Parts: sequence; structure tokens; C-alpha cells
Amino acid sequence: MSDIDLVKQKIDIVDFIGQYLELKKAGSNHKALCPFHDENTSSFMVSAEKQIFKCFGCGEGGNVFNFLMKYENLGFGEALKILAQRAGVTLTPRSGSRSTPEPIDHKTKLYKINSLASSAFHKILTSHPSAQNARDYLKKRGVTQNSIDKFFLGYAPLRNDWLEKFLRSRAFSNTEISQAGAPNRFINRLMFPLSDMMGNVVGFTGRALDDKIMPKYLNTAETPIFYKSRLLYGYPEARQSIREKKFAIVVEGQMDVIMAHQAGTANTVA
Ligand SMILES: [Zn+2]
Repeated sequence: MSDIDLVKQKIDIVDFIGQYLELKKAGSNHKALCPFHDENTSSFMVSAEKQIFKCFGCGEGGNVFNFLMKYENLGFGEALKILAQRAGVTLTPRSGSRSTPEPIDHKTKLYKINSLASSAFHKILTSHPSAQNARDYLKKRGVTQNSIDKFFLGYAPLRNDWLEKFLRSRAFSNTEISQAGAPNRFINRLMFPLSDMMGNVVGFTGRALDDKIMPKYLNTAETPIFYKSRLLYGYPEARQSIREKKFAIVVEGQMDVIMAHQAGTANTVA
């Protein structure tokens, strides 16, 4: 069986599209408001039996690959990577391709390391006494608790040995922690987690809270999962609004994104 067939077999189109759209049961099918054209009554149908979708309003239709490509504006190769990862299918390297892709379970580990670090930073920011200066800074800038939670802001404290110990205790090796971008290297910084289009935490920007420390903004170095130039900060949070308004506002920095969202302009990214 080909990789593509294997992925199709392992992913249920109703579950998958249900992550993006509010599906309602309609007989043996499911229906939703079509994301590809404006409508007030649902003409977008998903068939569990045939594993396809079809919009009777605008004519869009196809399988789970077609949906993801159209919805996220991706090429087939990118859609295949995302769906294979979700299905737990390791893609066979195409013959003739020079670089062998990283095994998928390895990347999943790197996502997990960043996600654990992000949760720890967030917890410290919201509840630990050592994060008082970070909380004061955010208050001074007018960032609300709601925004802190929405963007999962965090704080990397002055002492940083705990994070490596914590990650090692979760059975990650030093090599894996380093390949994930070494989130334990951030010290006394306000942490902005950076997510890819699927919402995986792939790295961080850390803003120095001590004005004498340079650089003011420190980014995770490029890793197998992190290419800064390919990321849009705030995209997972802005996606729905961009879709509704049909355009995005691009600003310079993370703080600009947060303040724009806070002011009600949720189709803003950086
Ligand atoms: Zn449609």
C-alpha cells in the first residue's frame, strides 16, 4: 500500500474536518457552513462512508488531502507531511530525492519538548513569585490576563537548570533537547511561544526583561522543526478571523500582534 493510501486509511475525514468546521449530523452525512464560499445555510457535506467532502453551493469537493490543501493553501507535499504526521505514518523517501526526511517520531519528540517548556514557562509567568518583574512589565504594557492566556505567554526565570532536569525526567535526551532548540537556554526573558500552522510549538522568542541584556529579542536558532522565516506569529490565533475578513494585517513584532488582538483586530499576524 502506498504512503498516501495508508494515510487516507488512518485518517477519518469527518474527524479531521470536524477540527476546522462545526459539523452537524445530517442523515448518514455531516454538514457545515462552507469555508470556501459565503453562505447562511449549510451546503457543505462530508461523507464518512465515501471519505469525501462536497459543497453543493460552490462545487468544491474531494478527499481529506484536497480539503487540507484548499483550506490551508498548501501544496500536496506539505499536506501529505501534515497528514502523515497526524496518522503516524513514516513517509518513504522518494527515490531520487537527495535529503532523507527526518523520521516523523523524532519531530514529534521535538514538538513535545517545546510544548512542555511552553507550558512550564506559562505556569511560571502566571503563578511563580520569580516572575513578578515579567508580570509588572506586561501590566505596564497593558497586556491583559486574557491575552497572556490566549498567546500562552511565559517567563524563563534567572535560574534555568530546572528545565533541563524536568525534560530529562520526561525521558528526553540532551541531544533531543538541543535539537528542539534548547528552550532551557533562555534566562530572565518574557517568552513568546512560536507555533507552526498546525499549532505545534516549534520555538520561542524571548524578550529580555533587563534593559542591559542584549539582544533584546532572542529567537530559537533554526532546528529541524523551526524556520523563523516561514512562521507567522499569531497565525493559529488569527486564522478564523482572517478567514472571515478575507485579509490579514501584518505587523512588525509579537507585542504588536497581541495588542491588535486585544483591541479586537484578530486578523493580525507578524
Ligand atoms: Zn462552498
